[in-house]
Amino acid sequence: TLQEQGGRVDFVNTTFAYPRRKPILENFNLTIEPGQRVGLIGRSGAGKSTVLALLQRFYDPQEGEVRVDDQNIARLTQDSLRHAIALVPQDISLFHRTVFENIQYGRPDATAEEVYQAAGEARCTEFIEAMPEGFDTIVGDRGVKLSGGQRQRIAIARAILKNAPILLLDEATSALDSASEDAIQQALDRLMRGRTVIAIAHRLSTLQNFDRIVVMSNGKVIDDGEPSVL
Ligand code: ATP
Ligand code: MG
Repeated sequence: TLQEQGGRVDFVNTTFAYPRRKPILENFNLTIEPGQRVGLIGRSGAGKSTVLALLQRFYDPQEGEVRVDDQNIARLTQDSLRHAIALVPQDISLFHRTVFENIQYGRPDATAEEVYQAAGEARCTEFIEAMPEGFDTIVGDRGVKLSGGQRQRIAIARAILKNAPILLLDEATSALDSASEDAIQQALDRLMRGRTVIAIAHRLSTLQNFDRIVVMSNGKVIDDGEPSVL
């Protein structure tokens, strides 16, 4: 099992190919210290999402290791890996349930108080209270539909509730209205506090908050440094 704190990530000589494909990553090495905020950039197909997929153990590498807090994730239980990592995806799909339940999904044993608190920190309260039945409003495809920016803030609320040491952020490429963009920035600032962050980031405002930018090309790191030097 993993420690409560921590959040160190290591890719050690990792080689990975999708089934029946040529390797996407070959001898890939990347070390991220606890609490470091890393922006992962590079053109389409460079391997950014693959790095996040391996860290979540959606696939196992053919060679090398992926480690969290110095432990090979292949030897961790699904549960302890799941507790260590929170993901804010490009676009979350909401369940046909109340908005309350959709947020509580981040940590099913969270109290109502904790759910409201996370919603507030993720800047969701205002739009939720404007919905017909507030937190009891049914959302999702067949319920009240939320905008892209609102869905993203729900995803952030879930991740705040989950309180994992490692945060993966796959930022949406789609443009958001500027009010949503400000709210999301504030929500992300709150979410990133005190965590290791690996983000596939597109917006400059997001990248500004990072300690380190890693540039990938053809499955390799081709540049790595402080945002100002790149
Ligand atoms: P983007 O910016 O477009 O999201 P990316 O940097 O995230 O790109 P990846 O999704 O990691 O790139 O893809 C890296 C390579 O692996 C690409 O050539 C892609 O076609 C291939 N690939 C990605 N997912 C799969 C898959 N499930 N099966 C086979 N090949 C895949
Ligand atoms: Mg991708």
